[in-house]
Amino acid sequence: MEKQTITDKQDFIDILKPFGLRPIVLDLPFRLDHVNCFIAEGENGWTVIDTGLHNQETVKRWEAELAGKTISDIIITHNHPDHFGYAGGMQEKTGAHVSMTKMDYDEAVNTWNKNYLSKLTAYYKQAGIPDEIGRKMQGNTAEFIDRVTPYPEVGHYFQEGEIVPIGNNEYQVIFTPGHADGLVTFYNQAHNMLLSTDHILPKITPNISYWFRGDPDPLASYLRSLEKVKKLDADLVVPSHGTPFHGANDRIAAIQAHHEERLAQTLEIIGSGVTVYEACAKLFRKELTIHETRFAIGETIAHLEYLKNKGECRREEKAGEYCYYI
Ligand SMILES: [Zn+2]
Repeated sequence: MEKQTITDKQDFIDILKPFGLRPIVLDLPFRLDHVNCFIAEGENGWTVIDTGLHNQETVKRWEAELAGKTISDIIITHNHPDHFGYAGGMQEKTGAHVSMTKMDYDEAVNTWNKNYLSKLTAYYKQAGIPDEIGRKMQGNTAEFIDRVTPYPEVGHYFQEGEIVPIGNNEYQVIFTPGHADGLVTFYNQAHNMLLSTDHILPKITPNISYWFRGDPDPLASYLRSLEKVKKLDADLVVPSHGTPFHGANDRIAAIQAHHEERLAQTLEIIGSGVTVYEACAKLFRKELTIHETRFAIGETIAHLEYLKNKGECRREEKAGEYCYYI
């Protein structure tokens, strides 16, 4: 089937209408400049899927979008700040019931705090990151605490395979770890439609990073999750960044090819030995902001560790730094 991309804003709204879903596209202050949240009216009120970063723009935008509406539910697809950040703030205002995975709730609570932040310096040293850059990366991480708090009180932890009503449709919860350890997608079997969240995105490949905590091999988990979703052979894919498109499996194949190529590049780069930081500089040749460097480092480790776990390279610690060798 020929892949068809829906690019127009009105198309985006129209294509979701039969599902009773409305996209709320929030601005983000990053190179990835927006996140798609969704709202849907159900029997007891409106459901909000993802809430954006907790900042002033987000608060104002939701105030306008939700004015006069009763919000019964907030569904969080995963714990990253651009999805989870305002969940607690919105809950305080609306009293809505919050659902997400236990895995990602625990991850959020354990990531955005001083205890974890204080450990980052040592982890960055192991990755061979120069002290000054490490300090800036730690500072950048700390800036997110205000953007993800207060934490919500979670009333329901999603279970694999459970059926969740959203608007006038039912969706099956599918656990798809990789981009985040506890990320879920929602599959509408009746219409063969997938709310892919950040598991499958058009145009850009989802960031697969090791964040110095959680799943030690997120790329292996991600590739397994792609195979799992492939079995659905979903037609319409509605992602959290970019616009909906048809043909999940074509996009999955392209993402798989991207990682194969990236792994081959990484193997070449490893050669006679590299630190994470050295490998990262060779894999990401363009100039990166500190925020982007955090993602680039995380993604580099994910690829190095995947290769290590496959037995294609090995890792040794030398003078407090990890070195990867063929
Ligand atoms: Zn995202």
